[in-house]
Amino acid sequence: MNIILLGPPGAGKGTQAQRLQSERGMIQLSTGDMLRAAVASGSELGRKAKGIMEKGELVPDELMVGLIEDRIAQPDCLKGFILDGFPRTEAQAEALDRMLDKKGKTLDRVVEMEVDEQALTERIVGRFSCAKCGTGYHDKFKRPKVEGVCDVCGSKEFVRRKDDNAETMKTRMAAYRAQTEPLRPYYARRGVLRKVDGMAAMDEVYRQITGVLSGA
Ligand code: ADP
Ligand code: ADP
Ligand code: ZN
Repeated sequence: MNIILLGPPGAGKGTQAQRLQSERGMIQLSTGDMLRAAVASGSELGRKAKGIMEKGELVPDELMVGLIEDRIAQPDCLKGFILDGFPRTEAQAEALDRMLDKKGKTLDRVVEMEVDEQALTERIVGRFSCAKCGTGYHDKFKRPKVEGVCDVCGSKEFVRRKDDNAETMKTRMAAYRAQTEPLRPYYARRGVLRKVDGMAAMDEVYRQITGVLSGA
């Protein structure tokens, strides 16, 4: 089963994708994580993306489409993938349709995570993650079980994203509204769009998503 998690920055896409990956073996494809890895490695893509990401704007479609096309061709994606952060524009959605068609793959569900905009900045500014395994945490909503130690891998090193601040968040929200929200009608027309309550507690959101995936 191949799905998209759709929602604004801070909606909880990464949190839910990580859990689907660890409990169901589906593969999380986070374009944000891929871009941050490219920036860290200093590759050509990373050099092009760095300044754009720091401002909270969108990286050009052709770069994003190439990145995803290469990734979904990898054999692990046969287990089913979760697109987290892609597509973000109609041009990306159309390119995704074409590449899935060409490979004989289907898009089974687009799960829209509905959230109150006011809650998002609080989620974003409190977000941090394990430097070693990438597990996501929050200052208030998801602290490690043992203070300062990653629940999953035991690492004591954590990182915060440079773009997770109230200022950049305004640009990211504007990009979401202008360029990504139009994907809701795009997928609603195809009958694959389902909504979940992204304001609920993390376990409840997960329960609603697995409900959607099992046919609801
Ligand atoms: P996204 O990938 O959509 O940008 P994340 O999954 O990284 O969002 O979540 C943003 C922050 O909010 C993280 O720190 C995460 O721990 C926290 N978070 C995620 N889901 C919830 C929730 N349902 N309730 C409260 N906090 C949440
Ligand atoms: P969040 O989940 O908080 O919205 P991401 O980690 O998905 O953030 O993305 C971080 C940044 O990477 C975005 O602000 C944007 O600059 C870039 N980015 C990620 N995915 C895409 C995409 N599909 N198209 C264009 N830019 C992207
Ligand atoms: Zn860890």
